[in-house]
Amino acid sequence: MSENICKGCVESVIVSEEVIEELLMEAAETPEKLVCDSIYQERLGICSSCASLQYGTTCAYSGCIIRYRAKFKGKACPNIGNPKWHKVV
Ligand code: SF4
Repeated sequence: MSENICKGCVESVIVSEEVIEELLMEAAETPEKLVCDSIYQERLGICSSCASLQYGTTCAYSGCIIRYRAKFKGKACPNIGNPKWHKVV
């Protein structure tokens, strides 16, 4: 897959579990870019109670699959006015 780590560009915002698993396997190829599991779970917990989570998978602000986006240190919640989780530096 491409270098693009934001999946806002996938063809549909509604994706199968299989596609998500594929994305997560791709992410695992660059462990140095990933947050630790506790931060990942914390981010997912925040997203799961966010009104902007669509279809249980996708952030309405960015179109990103949150289980993928939340993996990366360099990514933050894309709600510009009120980000709910932040980059890890
Ligand atoms: S990334 Fe931010 S705006 Fe999007 S679902 Fe998660 S908490 Fe909500």
